[in-house]
Amino acid sequence: MMRVFDDLEQLRDRVEGGDIPDAILASYATQFRALEPVVHAYLESRYDHPWTGAPSGPLIGSFFALKDNFALAGSQCTCASRILDGFRPAYTATVVERLLAAGASCVGKTNLDEFAMGSSTEHGAYGVTRNPWDPSRTAGGSSGGSAAAVAAGMATFALGSDTGGSVRQPAAFTGLVGFKPSYGRYSRYGLVAFASSLDHPATFTRTVRDAARLYEVMAGPDPRDATTLPAPAPLEASLWGQTDLRGARVGLFAEVEATSGIDPTVRAAYEATRDRLAAAGAEIVTLQCPLLEQAVGVYYILAPAEASSNLARYDGIRFGPTSVDAHAGLPEYYAAVRTRGFGPEVTRRILLGTFVLSAGYFDAYYGKASQVRTLLQQQFATFFEQVDVILTPTTPTMPFALGAKLDDPVAMYLNDLFTIPANLTGVPALSLPVGWSEDGLPIGMHLMSGRLQDARLFGIAHWLEQSLGLTPRLPSAAESGV
Ligand code: GLN
Repeated sequence: MMRVFDDLEQLRDRVEGGDIPDAILASYATQFRALEPVVHAYLESRYDHPWTGAPSGPLIGSFFALKDNFALAGSQCTCASRILDGFRPAYTATVVERLLAAGASCVGKTNLDEFAMGSSTEHGAYGVTRNPWDPSRTAGGSSGGSAAAVAAGMATFALGSDTGGSVRQPAAFTGLVGFKPSYGRYSRYGLVAFASSLDHPATFTRTVRDAARLYEVMAGPDPRDATTLPAPAPLEASLWGQTDLRGARVGLFAEVEATSGIDPTVRAAYEATRDRLAAAGAEIVTLQCPLLEQAVGVYYILAPAEASSNLARYDGIRFGPTSVDAHAGLPEYYAAVRTRGFGPEVTRRILLGTFVLSAGYFDAYYGKASQVRTLLQQQFATFFEQVDVILTPTTPTMPFALGAKLDDPVAMYLNDLFTIPANLTGVPALSLPVGWSEDGLPIGMHLMSGRLQDARLFGIAHWLEQSLGLTPRLPSAAESGV
C-alpha cells in the first residue's frame, strides 16, 4: 500500500522503526508535484524544505496542511483576502502549536473562500481549488484547499475551520473524515475570527481513528481562549472494539426522511447507512425538528452579524495594506482600503451583518435569530437525551460543478442545511465517506452527538467506517486531468 495512505500510528511506527521523516515527506511531495498544478490546494507550500519537526511525539512522521486562516509564525496568513496580503503573524495558533509539539510538520497554507465565507473555495482572491476526483467540480468550501490536499495524497491530515460546515462539507465532497468537536474543545486562538460563537477548528483525516488521535493532542484548555473547556477524559480503548451497535440509539429527522430536496445518490446512501446501523442492532428513533428549516436563516443573520464586527479591524491601519491615494478624510480612507481589500462575498456579509445589527432592525433580525438559536439548542439537548447520535446526509447534493452556484448566493447557502445546526448548538459532528457514486465521486454522511459527547461520536463513526470497509483511493494525475 502506498505510504500516503499510512495513518498516524503507522507513520509513527515507521519513524520509530528507523524510517526518516524526509522519506515520508518525499511521497507527499510526489503527489504534490503531480496534482497541485490542477487542484490548486495551496497558497504557500514547503515541500522542498527539509524536515525540521520535533524529534519525537505521537504524531511523528505526519505532515499536515493548514488552512490559510490559522496563524503559523513565519508563514503567510492571508485568509485568501487582498486585505491581508503579505501578513505574516509573529505567533502560532494554539492547536497548531500542539500539533507541532507532538511531532507533526506543516507542509503549507491552503486555499479557502475569503475569510472562510463560502461553500466552494471559489470566493478567494488567489484562485479556485478544484476537486481532485473531478477537476470540473468544487472540492467544497470554505476549507476546500485543505480537503483537496489530503484527498490528493499531499498530506497526512489537514486543519480547517468549520463555522457552518466548512470542514464537514468539503470532507464529504473529497472522500475524507471531517470532524468538528464540541465548541470549546479546540482553542480558537490564532484562528482568524469569522463568527466567534460559531467558529471551530476542525480536522480532515482519512480515518475516524486519526481524527480521534488528533483530538487527543489538540483538545484542552487554553488561557488565550476564554471559551475553552477543561481537558476531556482520555478516550477509552474500548471505543474501538465495538462489534455491533446493540444499545446505541440513532436519531433520524422526520423532516429529512420526508424531504424531496436531496439528490437521489445522496438519499440512497443515506438510506443504506440508516439500514446498516439498524441491522447492527441500533435502535432507530425518529425525531421531529421543525426548527431545522430555520437554521440556515438563523445562521445567515448571526454569522454575518459577528463577521461585520470581527472584520471591522481590517482598516488599513492596524491590518491591511495602507492606501495612499485617499486623503480626503478618514471615512473615505476606510472606504478606499476596504473596497479594494474585500471581495464581493465578504462585502455582502459585512453589509448584511451591519444591517441586522443596526438600531432599527436589531430586534427584528439579530434578536429574533438569537432566540431561535436558543430554542434549537434546547431542542438538541432534548434530542440527545433520547439518542446517542443523529444521522443526516452531510450535504443535500453531490459535489457541484464549479461556477454552478456562484451567481446564486441562496443556493450556495442551502448547501449547509445539515451542517449548520451543529455550529449553532455547539455539538460535535463528523462527516465520513460511505461510498462512491457511479461516476467516481465520494459520498459523505453526517453524524452529530450531544454536547461534550465527542467520544461517543467517534465510537459509532468508527464502527460504521469499519463495517463499510471502503478501500482507500487516490486520484490519479489522469483523473485530475494532468
Ligand atoms: N458555507 C458557510 C458560509 O459560507 C460556512 C462557512 C464556514 O464554515 N466557514 O458561511
